[in-house]
This record gives sequence, C-alpha cells and structure tokens, in this order.
Amino acid sequence: MLQCTAVAGTPFVEALVALADMEGGPDHPQEALARDFLLCELGEHDESTEHAAHLCAAEGRDDRDLWFLWAGSSTHRVYRFATLPLCLATLHDFDRGSIRRCPLFFGHRPRTHSFQVTDPLGALDTDDTDAS
Ligand SMILES: [Zn+2]
Ligand SMILES: [Zn+2]
Repeated sequence: MLQCTAVAGTPFVEALVALADMEGGPDHPQEALARDFLLCELGEHDESTEHAAHLCAAEGRDDRDLWFLWAGSSTHRVYRFATLPLCLATLHDFDRGSIRRCPLFFGHRPRTHSFQVTDPLGALDTDDTDAS
C-alpha cells in the first residue's frame, strides 16, 4: 500500500498552544514546530478517514503523542489536535534480527501499519538497490 500524499500547512498558533498543553511535551514548543507543512502519514485512505500527521512525541512512554488530524483541503479544511496512544503493532524482521514498531496511533485507519506502507517519495530513492 502506498502512503497518502495529503499535505497541510501548519497552523502555527494553534499548534503551539496544543504543544504547550501537552503532557510530557517539549520544553521548547517553537523548536518542535519547525515545519511549514505536515504530511499525512497514513496509508492511502478515502475521505471518510481524517488525514493524520505526527506533531510531537511525548517524553514518557505512558504519555500520549500529539497528532494533527484534518479533513478536506485548503479553505474547506477542518482540523483538530489530539493526543493519542501509540499503535501496539510490531514487525519482527527475522532476516535483519530487528523489531520495528508502528509509529502511528492506536486504532488508526486504514489498519495498514507503517511498515506495510510505502512512501512514494522514499521508493524513488531506493530504485537503484531494487534493480540489483
Ligand atoms: Zn491522508
Ligand atoms: Zn499501526
């Protein structure tokens, strides 16, 4: 499955407020928010599902990460901030002897975990290695 390609401009003021309110949030919200645009990190989905971009990781594992969720585009955009627990899915890569965690939030839709999603831009970079 490919990654969703939706992009949203960062609503700085609201994002700063959300970061400041966050439990286990960053000491310097302004630095945590050094991006003009936020990319949806979910797998391709339809309009009934909100786009979601990870804004900031909480300090403690028990704290919830801050996410930016939106639907629609440009002037019709509706968005909100939410602190959500982590997805519990892990992928055991026996070839590499590693364990990958899905960095998305618990109960994300589509249910496709991040390690099953191909970043269309990242895939371009690896074309050379795929050919060998
Ligand atoms: Zn999306
Ligand atoms: Zn997941």
